[in-house]
Amino acid sequence: MMVVFVKYIPKIDESKCIGDGACKKVCPVKPNVFEIWKNPVDGRLRAYVLHPEACNGCYACVRACPQQAITITIER
Ligand code: SF4
Repeated sequence: MMVVFVKYIPKIDESKCIGDGACKKVCPVKPNVFEIWKNPVDGRLRAYVLHPEACNGCYACVRACPQQAITITIER
């Protein structure tokens, strides 16, 4: 049997993100992949990927985001 390890890499499209925190709310892993901060340039809330290594590829954030701002890429 061959075991293949994959790495899930969540990414946020900054131009779409409104920082409502839906991703952080639904992300089930610890530490949470996301953090919500004020963007220092325009003062608006945005989600940031803080712990990409914790992602388990459940796609809950992709489904929850009202802006379709999150994509998950898979690395083998
Ligand atoms: S795919 Fe799942 S584990 Fe990965 S960042 Fe999104 S909600 Fe968190």
